[in-house]
Amino acid sequence: MNIKRTYGTNMPKTIYLDNAATTAVKREVFDAMAPYFTEQYGNPSSIHEFGARCGVACDEARAKVAKVIGANPQEIYFTSGGTESDNWAIKSTAYAKKEKGRHIITTRIEHHAVMETCEFLKRDGFDVTFLDVDDQGLVDPAKLEAAIRPDTILISVIYANNEIGTVQPIAEIGRIARARGVLFHTDAVQAFGHVPIDVDAENIDLLSASGHKIHGPKGIGFLYMRKGVKLPPLMHGGHHERGRRAGTLNVPGIVGLGKAAEIAGAEMAANAERVTALRDRLIKGMLSEIPHSRLNGHPTKRLPGNANLSFRFVEGESLLMMVDEKGVSASTGSACASGSLDPSHVLLAIGLPHEIAHGSLRFSLSEDNTEEEIDYAVEAVREVVERLRSMSPLYEDAVKAGGA
Ligand SMILES: *Cc1c(COP(=O)(O)O)cnc(C)c1O
Repeated sequence: MNIKRTYGTNMPKTIYLDNAATTAVKREVFDAMAPYFTEQYGNPSSIHEFGARCGVACDEARAKVAKVIGANPQEIYFTSGGTESDNWAIKSTAYAKKEKGRHIITTRIEHHAVMETCEFLKRDGFDVTFLDVDDQGLVDPAKLEAAIRPDTILISVIYANNEIGTVQPIAEIGRIARARGVLFHTDAVQAFGHVPIDVDAENIDLLSASGHKIHGPKGIGFLYMRKGVKLPPLMHGGHHERGRRAGTLNVPGIVGLGKAAEIAGAEMAANAERVTALRDRLIKGMLSEIPHSRLNGHPTKRLPGNANLSFRFVEGESLLMMVDEKGVSASTGSACASGSLDPSHVLLAIGLPHEIAHGSLRFSLSEDNTEEEIDYAVEAVREVVERLRSMSPLYEDAVKAGGA
């Protein structure tokens, strides 16, 4: 196997399998954005024609984004990304409804942007129920319904998990929330543009999404807020975004998000089919080539591009660094949690023991990956796992004991 492949310079070619952390901006997206940095630099809030033209571009982007989730453009509010949208949805619901109640229901497998926001509210006197999930990462809608109390003001459930890829029964959860009169928020950052979403059919009141997970730019996202759900702003200031989110609009970012959403929506079915096939090739390859490996998350109810695997008797960080040397970019879970030595809260929530959770890698694919890259990655991981195990006293002991 050709270990260091080059572009003709001495830069090693990267096999990028970390698309859940961020994606490459598409050429068409970049080209759509470019004029809004240079010639079209007006402020959409200006009265003059030069600024207003940029406002028109933002409204076109708003319509493109809305179309992907079956929303009305007036229900889309641009933000700086998924994190801000999550903070806005949760904090503003909490503070607007605290007279009605102070109870929030969420899950143990949320992204940090939701989890830490809920922890913050807990310190501020709110009561938060973190629902358990099963060993494949699924929330049980019956348990969720049983957790609803008269003082419950919000249910927030991640649409598709960023680490293990499990896609939740969102329509069922939405139906329960609506029937019980509780607002329903979903962090759909990993799902938006990748799996079909219909905010009406699924009874979603609030939805967070982000540009850079769909081949759009970083630093731009949106919050969908159902008509009639009038949350107060998180960002106070000028009267941008119909008085709900202050700050001069990020025009190039918004135009880029709109273009990326348009492409993702149009190509969703074809991409999902292609990426699912690549994902299954990777999973099948690793499980058959590497002994003592397991797939984390649900076998079928998972994001097209997500494969999360555990390799017993190896340490994930070493594995990650050594496959990186072979040109494969993967992740040990959430990019936002790297630097911390604690095992992933998501892997612990699905019941993995600490030592197995520590030996896990996430591969997140995009339509830009090829079969050749997947086969290369399987071989790279196989080689590294074998090497690490050959140096591991744990593995030797396990072999002697007949456990391996
Ligand atoms: C990436 C991500 C976020 C954060 O979005 P940003 O735009 O990077 O702030 C939130 N939730 C999930 C599930 C994500 O994957």
